[in-house]
Amino acid sequence: MLSLTPISIAIMPTTTPHIATRTTATQRCIDPSCATRFEINERIYVCPRCGGLLDVVQELTTDPEQLQTLWTRRLASFEARDRSGVWRYRELLPFADDAPIVSLAEGNTPIYDAPISAVYCGLNALTLKHQGCNPTGSFKDTGMTVAITQALILGAQTVVCASTGNTAASLAAYAARAKLQCAILVPRGQISHAKLAQSLDYGAAVLELDGNFDDAMRVIRELAEDESIYLVNSINPFRIEGQKTVAAELLHQRGWEVPDHVVVPGGNLGNSTALGKGFAELKDLGLIDRIPRLSVVQAEGAAPFANLFKSVAQTPGVAGPDWNDWPALTAIEHPHTLATAIKIGAPVSWPKALRSVLASGGTVLSVSEQEMADAKAIIGREGVGCEPASASTVAGIKRLVADGVIDPGEDVVAVLTGHVLKDTDYAIKYHEEKLTSDDDDTLERRRLTGTYRNPPALVEATKAAILEGLRRHTSTQDTM
Ligand SMILES: [Zn+2]
Repeated sequence: MLSLTPISIAIMPTTTPHIATRTTATQRCIDPSCATRFEINERIYVCPRCGGLLDVVQELTTDPEQLQTLWTRRLASFEARDRSGVWRYRELLPFADDAPIVSLAEGNTPIYDAPISAVYCGLNALTLKHQGCNPTGSFKDTGMTVAITQALILGAQTVVCASTGNTAASLAAYAARAKLQCAILVPRGQISHAKLAQSLDYGAAVLELDGNFDDAMRVIRELAEDESIYLVNSINPFRIEGQKTVAAELLHQRGWEVPDHVVVPGGNLGNSTALGKGFAELKDLGLIDRIPRLSVVQAEGAAPFANLFKSVAQTPGVAGPDWNDWPALTAIEHPHTLATAIKIGAPVSWPKALRSVLASGGTVLSVSEQEMADAKAIIGREGVGCEPASASTVAGIKRLVADGVIDPGEDVVAVLTGHVLKDTDYAIKYHEEKLTSDDDDTLERRRLTGTYRNPPALVEATKAAILEGLRRHTSTQDTM
């Protein structure tokens, strides 16, 4: 007979105290020669004086050990704010304690040991931080929870963005949660299927415009003049605030052990900007004593930031303290890559991202469509998977190890940004060797090789045929 051992259950408090860490947060123009400050609740998107991008800044002073203890206690709390992987770290965020938080329990994304990817890259070990495990399947949620909370504080009734992808899906979900009207503006015929499906289910008004992406951006700027409308595009500084908490969650998960390298995909450059800000603030607070080298990987056909970084790296001293002296980013008019999440030719946040990469001693590079496609299949073999843009990280790390920039024994984290189900067409085409890139003229050259392909096989409905099918599958998969 089974004997049951009584266990004692510790009753955890349902709320955890808040440590008052902040003075008054403000918005500040990032151009050092302007640096004008604005009220935190002023509804602006760029500096009204010079048009520069805005940072949210606040003086953070507290006892780092006390903060670490508090954040760890919150892991066992049942309070909604504590269960969110963003609001758990709310001492870093520019809100009062009674802010009307709009949350879908975002963050809390896993870190995975990735031995197959490590071998593929030539590393002893590699860690994947999977931001695709957020509620809508992409890293955008960590920023959206904060931006939509700010929208409520500002009394907005409608939130709007121009996006063909993950931002649209995320905004639609959080707007629904906040009972705000949501408008997704897209050029006609340019929204991907999975992401459109999400936006529709979350109840957003998806408005297809008779025009291109520039037309959508122009209309959005006009709409933003209306007081009841809040613009949630990539320059919104509150999104960066939410996304920066990923730095805290990552280090918390690692027992505050700082990796040597953190590598992220580069599209609109929000991730690199936010992680750089997050690591810098944690260092200022005394939670860590150094920051990891932050590197950004772009797709070859959409690499304006990698091109800029090359010119900066070749001219020592060119990126000094006055960023007005920096060489400007040259936009790519027709970016092309199958990794649609990073298919961006003119990322407006580049000065912030460049500041982050330079401060960390990291680098920026680009990888080919073939490298990305193969890296994605390798990440899949871990049982993890990701959307195509995320795989640029593993492809980039493989390059950096080969080039001697990353030592095989170093501690490396790749940030995956989107879920494997965000682009199923891509995966199926890769495994059936029907994936074609859009960067060459002849159809023959455009076809990508399914180096690690795993196509489905048709077999007879007999035991013998199935066993033979399994044997054949094993023999083909072992050759990788
Ligand atoms: Zn300014």
